[in-house]
Amino acid sequence: MRTLECATCSETTAMSDSFRITEKDHCRSCAEKKVESEKLTAADIRHNSDPTVCIECKTDAGNRELPLLSGLPVCEACTERLIYRPFPMWVQGFMGSLALITLLGFVVNFSYIHAFIKLKQANLALGRGETELAYQHVQGAIVLVPNSKDLELIAPMYQGIMLMSKGDSQGALEPFRRFAKNFPQDEGARRFLLEAQAGAYFDQHNYPGFFQASQELARLYPEDPFMLMQESSAAACMYAVTSMEVYKKLSLLFLAEAHKRLRADDENARVYEARINHRLNTREIISSREFEERFGHGEAK
Ligand SMILES: [Zn+2]
Ligand SMILES: [Zn+2]
Repeated sequence: MRTLECATCSETTAMSDSFRITEKDHCRSCAEKKVESEKLTAADIRHNSDPTVCIECKTDAGNRELPLLSGLPVCEACTERLIYRPFPMWVQGFMGSLALITLLGFVVNFSYIHAFIKLKQANLALGRGETELAYQHVQGAIVLVPNSKDLELIAPMYQGIMLMSKGDSQGALEPFRRFAKNFPQDEGARRFLLEAQAGAYFDQHNYPGFFQASQELARLYPEDPFMLMQESSAAACMYAVTSMEVYKKLSLLFLAEAHKRLRADDENARVYEARINHRLNTREIISSREFEERFGHGEAK
């Protein structure tokens, strides 16, 4: 475990319990005072994460930095378990164009016209959000060209997207891991995996993990308002479980930042925000599905 000295009170604090505010590290209580008294934006403040503590099992590796699994520190034992055990928040809007770009490079290699058509249908279905149908088309293409290495390499992506769209982040982890392994240089593949990881942590009630994964996604995609909303959502979870005001403040800052990038009539964003506010006001954590069941698309009271 790493520790650092607070820039304000000079007390030693656990790194994982500290915040970086305008380029200086602060202990939790000084951070809390700072966000109260100073005018900060979301870009000024960041929660520090300790690269020597496993995000899964909290094992302390002393001073040794742990290897990163989709950008997060995970110990060897957990890496082993995660890779061989399939694991569930579906963030709308990340799939369409990204998936199409990822694929464009592969289609030219298919020699069989029918498989090619199937794949085209799969991508059109994906573009319409019909993820199950997309996966069926890909499986259809595999039947037509059973020995295609290319199809085998990309099929896990369709499977992962299909599972994510059903809210099964946990189940999507395994196919996305395979996909990321098949295309280690591909940014889209890494993003899918990290999205699934964040969702799986949420479902497991591992809120520090959810927060860290969401922070990493927001860092990688600073222009994507839904990443900021997810970061806000994760900070609200942290507030719900710790009752620390600093997390509430962070959540509101990320939300304000997301607003600058959102269209005013974005319905998904509106429902998402209502859910975050509900969490901040009641300190109750409920899933999007539960929220919808209780409040429909209306505002939470
Ligand atoms: Zn301090
Ligand atoms: Zn571990």
